[in-house]
Amino acid sequence: MTGRTHALWMAVLAAIGCSVGGIDRGMSAVCWSVNDLAVYVGPGCAAEDAVLPVWQYLPLRITVDTDVDATVVGEAGEVWNAAVGCPTFYVGDGAPDDVSIITGGIMGAVMGEMHMSGSVATGPTHATVVIRQATTARALRLVVTHELGHVLGLDDDTGIDESIMRATLDAATLADDSEVEPQPLDTDVALLRTYYDCAGVVRS
Ligand SMILES: [Zn+2]
Repeated sequence: MTGRTHALWMAVLAAIGCSVGGIDRGMSAVCWSVNDLAVYVGPGCAAEDAVLPVWQYLPLRITVDTDVDATVVGEAGEVWNAAVGCPTFYVGDGAPDDVSIITGGIMGAVMGEMHMSGSVATGPTHATVVIRQATTARALRLVVTHELGHVLGLDDDTGIDESIMRATLDAATLADDSEVEPQPLDTDVALLRTYYDCAGVVRS
């Protein structure tokens, strides 16, 4: 499989090596050793891998498994639509199937994973988000929002509690509606706007 994998952890745990083509070194650094898709570089990783994959078209259609609440997935997509400033995601059936959201077995306490395939020539061509069956709409929205951030090319933020891209979410953040929901950081939004020129959206 050609791709990279990101996972959202529910709690700070010892890293479990469950990524495809990657080495999860814990919360501080993630190195992705990918065949021909560009990768993220963290501390201790090879500098030549410092190219992020960026989709060559937007918006991306999300197809949702029947046991996943499509309305909540749509809410997660709207977070990024608002952040980027133009449509990035929409939920619908059929082709093109850019992002598949499925439930499945995930190792340890991981709430979600993102597997991406593609090539340097094409950019990403498909992403699969695997989620643990969420207990609440809030948990589903937070986990899917986090994974969709990876789909757009963002990496995990570490040590920033208010960021939706932080690598771990504690149980209270996931479950307690009185807790402030993590959001995209301004720095991540600025990065996305360098990746995606809304004027260049080619698909409607
Ligand atoms: Zn993540």
